Amino acid sequence: MKILIAMMKHETNTFSPIPTNWKRFEDWGIHFGSKALEVYQHTGMPMAAYIDLAKSIGAEIITPVAAEAMPSGVVHAETYNRLTDSICEAVNSGCDIALLDLHGAMVSETTDDGEGTLLEKIRTISPNLPIAVTCDFHCNLTHKMVDNCTALIGYKTYPHVDMYQVGKQIGQVVLDTYEEKLIPVMTRQQLPMLTHTLKQGTDDQPTKSLIDACRQAEQQEDVLAATFFGGFPLADMPDAGASTVVVTNQNPDLAQRTSFDIASLAWKQRKQFVYQCGSLPEQVKIARELSSYPVILLDHEDNCGSGGTQDVMAVIREMVEQNLDGVAVAAVYDPGAVTEMQKAGVGKEMTITLGGKTEIPSLQLKPKPLELTGKVKVLSDGKWTVHGPMYTGVKVDMGPTAVFDTGKIKIVVVSLHHEPWDVGVFTSVGILPEKEKYLLLKSRIHYRAGFEGIGKQTLHCDGEGVTTSRYELLDFKKLRRPIYPLDHNVEFHNN
Ligand SMILES: [Zn+2]
Repeated sequence: MKILIAMMKHETNTFSPIPTNWKRFEDWGIHFGSKALEVYQHTGMPMAAYIDLAKSIGAEIITPVAAEAMPSGVVHAETYNRLTDSICEAVNSGCDIALLDLHGAMVSETTDDGEGTLLEKIRTISPNLPIAVTCDFHCNLTHKMVDNCTALIGYKTYPHVDMYQVGKQIGQVVLDTYEEKLIPVMTRQQLPMLTHTLKQGTDDQPTKSLIDACRQAEQQEDVLAATFFGGFPLADMPDAGASTVVVTNQNPDLAQRTSFDIASLAWKQRKQFVYQCGSLPEQVKIARELSSYPVILLDHEDNCGSGGTQDVMAVIREMVEQNLDGVAVAAVYDPGAVTEMQKAGVGKEMTITLGGKTEIPSLQLKPKPLELTGKVKVLSDGKWTVHGPMYTGVKVDMGPTAVFDTGKIKIVVVSLHHEPWDVGVFTSVGILPEKEKYLLLKSRIHYRAGFEGIGKQTLHCDGEGVTTSRYELLDFKKLRRPIYPLDHNVEFHNN
């Protein structure tokens, strides 16, 4: 038996000014053939689960491509075509099963539905091929995706720490389908709702109740997989937002009923998915008054893990103005500042113009760097391996990295975008996060994977950037309407 295993992942923030070209994928990782297998086997990724499953039955494995890029703007046509062509050509050369590790929110210059378009192409080449698909919790699920694969599942955790398990679960369903032990049927329900990412943590309500409902559903006989997707709202495409999908064995009624029940439960709790923004000066003032350390501060509107430029200085500027002392920041993207610090050398005192280099036309934000005086504390190559629960075993590359220390604030400055979801972002440059008073993280929920056990308290800092929760600032043109919470009188129907 020949099993095709491939990974193609991108969460496209259509409001992000960061271009998504071939280099963007190279920065995080793009590998072909046996190298793809070598890099991702023995990791916590769905692809690793697929590889283990295929090996356990002695199948021949082909891995045409494994590619992921940090979230950013619309994927360039040429890049999208090269990625999808490599998978389609491998399908064309012949395989018995395809196990795909996708994200489910890819928008390219040629299609708003990157994954659905890929799956449709694969279906055209090989109409009866059993296809398993894993998607991120932030998948914007489309009809085309569901209609063109055998069984689809999403992560049940945010931070995403169950990627391997869901890969194993859905991969097994499709292996059993190939052996004619199962006949999967799937139903999708789309909710007219954009949730706020800050309310999507799967350990908190309302999301926890929906994940519990999915797990309960999977206890039922014939339910092979049940998923609630929080969705990725920062995408101006018709299908952005929350959805559910349920896979059953030969039982379309059960799939329909279960997917609708879970979607209805989400709809009932829609108000709880709304994050109320506050005033940044007030939030930093509150941080000053806390006394149980470390305090985690989230610069959540500039999260590069969802397409942020990671160089918006609004929150750091406010901290400097309020004289906050004992802060470690992860991380500011500024390759130019790193080069300057490399030239100066460790220990050198200098004044730098940090961050604020990227213009953000979607929010009419002009570049606004921050002048700081301090010392170059550390220089590193920015490479380290994850030991924490998310992306376990994966090698991280932050590019040339420096720590700039103002005496009150230590800032990790990176040359490649990196969301701080693991303590390695600090420990790799000699900062012990548990010893700091404040940890300012440019993250929203994923920081919990590595930092939840360290922080005594967490505060949101409403700065600026393309991962804003102020959806009313974003100019949605293609999104289906009406949609909650942008519109009034929105209704949800069984679909
Ligand atoms: Zn995600």
